[in-house]
Amino acid sequence: MEEQGLLLVLSGPSGVGKGTVKSAIVAKKAFPFEYSVSMTTRQPRPGEVDGKDYYFVSEERFQKAIANHELLEYNEYVGHHYGTPLAPLRKMLQDGIDVLLEIDVNGARRVREQFPDGVFIFLTPPDLQTLKQRITNRGTDSAAVIDKRMRQARNEILMMADYDYAVVNDEVDRAVTRISDIVTAEHVSVKRVLATYQAMVKED
Ligand code: 5GP
Repeated sequence: MEEQGLLLVLSGPSGVGKGTVKSAIVAKKAFPFEYSVSMTTRQPRPGEVDGKDYYFVSEERFQKAIANHELLEYNEYVGHHYGTPLAPLRKMLQDGIDVLLEIDVNGARRVREQFPDGVFIFLTPPDLQTLKQRITNRGTDSAAVIDKRMRQARNEILMMADYDYAVVNDEVDRAVTRISDIVTAEHVSVKRVLATYQAMVKED
């Protein structure tokens, strides 16, 4: 039986540190996986690399991707579009590679509809004060954007109910370890390995 990779969806409220935790997982190679690079119409932040952090595209190119059904899901967030290219993701899963997505909560909900067997991990802030601090410290957003992100974050925290795991991002390294442990456990969960063993027993 062909083994499919796991679809690992890392999501959570705005400012919780999804991007930082994702970068730490990538930098540490915390477990074997490929990162699903999203398409966005926002400008690159300093240090971000096209094709690695995001595919930075024009609004026109993004609209074309929607029209051509190239995206598994997409969302508008604080005035910019973000979307997940479907073809590379599907290919990697079919090749048995685990794929990590780091996306907002609306996107994650849409991914769940199409990939119900994915592993949905919700990153939580230790508390709201810490969340506001993180959003403010980033320093790249205006006061109005910060307020908008905080309002959105409060609503988003309640969306945890639809996830498989809640990981507190108190400290990045600890969050990464918790996520690694989840991936290890998912690989040996009976619901994922049962079919392989049933086939093995049948062949004998
Ligand atoms: P940022 O601009 O800070 O990189 O990302 C803003 C938000 O967009 C974050 O919550 C991030 O998780 C989300 N995001 C990044 N890529 C995607 C995507 O492909 N789809 C969706 N729905 N959200 C995304």
